[in-house]
Amino acid sequence: MAFKTPRGTNDILPEDQAYWSYVWGTAEQVAASFGFGRIDTPMFEDTSLFRHGVGEETDIVEKEMYSFDDLGGDNITLKPEGTAPVCRAYIQHGMSNLPQPVRLFYENPHFRYERPQAGRVRQHHQFGVEIIGDPSPQVDAEIIELGWTYLSSLGLKNLSLKINSIGDGACRPTYLELLNAHLEHYEDSLCDDHRKRYKVNPLRVLDCKKPGCQSVSVNAPASVDHLCDDCREHFELLKGTLDDLVAAGALIPYTVDNRLVRGLDYYNRTVFEFEPADVKGQSTILAGGRYDPLIEILGGKPTPGIGFGSGVERVILNLKAQGIEVPEARTLDLICVHIGDNARRRLVTLAATLRAAGKSVIVAPEGRSMKSQMRYANNSGARYALILGDRDLEQGEATLRPLIGDGKEVQVGLDAAVIAAEMV
Ligand SMILES: [Zn+2]
Ligand SMILES: [Zn+2]
Repeated sequence: MAFKTPRGTNDILPEDQAYWSYVWGTAEQVAASFGFGRIDTPMFEDTSLFRHGVGEETDIVEKEMYSFDDLGGDNITLKPEGTAPVCRAYIQHGMSNLPQPVRLFYENPHFRYERPQAGRVRQHHQFGVEIIGDPSPQVDAEIIELGWTYLSSLGLKNLSLKINSIGDGACRPTYLELLNAHLEHYEDSLCDDHRKRYKVNPLRVLDCKKPGCQSVSVNAPASVDHLCDDCREHFELLKGTLDDLVAAGALIPYTVDNRLVRGLDYYNRTVFEFEPADVKGQSTILAGGRYDPLIEILGGKPTPGIGFGSGVERVILNLKAQGIEVPEARTLDLICVHIGDNARRRLVTLAATLRAAGKSVIVAPEGRSMKSQMRYANNSGARYALILGDRDLEQGEATLRPLIGDGKEVQVGLDAAVIAAEMV
């Protein structure tokens, strides 16, 4: 029997970890520079949180959740997304009593039963941020600026930024009527799926990738042309602030995309996405929007919120595609090579002292020839080898040989401080 990772999941092996530390490290640094605090919520929640907080009629809840009864009979779900759990935590811990808004970020695996493809896996990892408790377009701009700072700090190039406003409870019903009338008129051209169900969530037709729906969407009424006064003012103020940020070099230019929507009902007003400029299809690497009704839906006081999520697998695919070099994961400083048992025993304690002094050190496997140990040392990626024979031991000296670069080998005393000082 040969066990393998379940379909749609990956092992992240040591050789790939440099990318992961680079992405997580950059995310944490950028989130901190915008004053965000980290939040970790459990891997699983009550299933009803997602039924309420994502919506019954979404693909996520209908087809993609890992839900099951646990041994106590509670129905729980591995979290398929990050916003509902953060809002649940905001309510549960009374964060509305803190100075508003509250700025939170997370780094989480999310679980969705999806058809695996490039950059889409069943356990995928996401960097997400939320600002809860501020309705102003200033924080929309701040969230978008944060997204750009994160992606540009990673070194990603050739990205485009799209924004849209999808209105709110005051103006969207009228807009949806217009949109529905348009879709009804061209019903026969819609894709099979949407011909049957466009009335449930007509906005989804606008971001459908099937040719039929795309052709119908081109001339569909645009939500930005049917905003109420409040939503229009919000959108204008947002664009003004984004223009300022672009002028200051803190953001790339954006376009207003009438077909950019969020599939979930509680999204309102601002939605935005970053994607690689020259890729079509499933290519978004960071997407977000405002979700003012959500906290109330989950049982809290009406409280506005906005956030984004960015899939790490897809970001790493783009880093590799753009040939961006990431800092190497920490390399080994030293490997201790020994000839004779007494030498090996002395090196075991010397290695312990060097580790306590902050060096990364391993002792070569015992019972092997010097030649075999040196081969192991050269493959280990260590910067130095410390070679000690039983006769060296009597003289209290070892050989420190650089394995990388063209430095010369030197004789050193068997003293951790002396050895550490030689390893520059
Ligand atoms: Zn469609
Ligand atoms: Zn409105």
